[in-house]
Amino acid sequence: MEREESNITKSDYDILTCTDFDTETTPMITPSEVIEHLYCPRFTFFINCLNIPQHEEQRYKVLKGRELHEKREKTNVDYLRKRLNCVDKEISVYIASKSLRVRGVIDEVLHLSDGTLSPIDYKYTEYTDFTFQTHRIQSALYALLIMENYRKPVKRGYICYARGGFKVKEILYTKKDFCYAKDTVNEILEVIEKGYFPKKTGWQLRCIDCCYRNICV
Ligand code: SF4
Repeated sequence: MEREESNITKSDYDILTCTDFDTETTPMITPSEVIEHLYCPRFTFFINCLNIPQHEEQRYKVLKGRELHEKREKTNVDYLRKRLNCVDKEISVYIASKSLRVRGVIDEVLHLSDGTLSPIDYKYTEYTDFTFQTHRIQSALYALLIMENYRKPVKRGYICYARGGFKVKEILYTKKDFCYAKDTVNEILEVIEKGYFPKKTGWQLRCIDCCYRNICV
């Protein structure tokens, strides 16, 4: 299991979870939209400003995600939770934060024996030693949502890679993770609210089989 250093103090949690804007009309985004934006900022524009959805491949991923969810419900993954010193768990937890302007369903919220909470996210992919930035930021967003709603510290999160046998990776959050997650959310909201055409992805290879390549100038 991958282990990293955390540099977050208790006062940091108070700052990270503080609420400084809150309105009923505030649009909210999901961690999936954050992942799409990190893949290419223009996805945010095409999907949210022009209402042009992605194609089948995305639906395939959603269906795979549903299958995984059903499989997880049937599979006994309690031994995994025990290994993580989990004393209680909540499954498929819907959480929204008006201050963060993010909403989503967390696969599991684990209550750990040290009094902290942790999100666990199941991915239908194989485990690798490398942690994808998208997985890390998604987990950090879940952590922020949990901290705000439960008013308890969240120091680490877990990603369970289901393909090839439910392997778990631990992410020890840093302040940088939370700041980056919040900055990305603000960047997305700016595109949606101002409707400007954002920069291209820095990875030109992504354009080759992109469903928007014919309309993306
Ligand atoms: S064609 Fe390239 S820049 Fe345009 S949306 Fe697709 S990935 Fe992004």
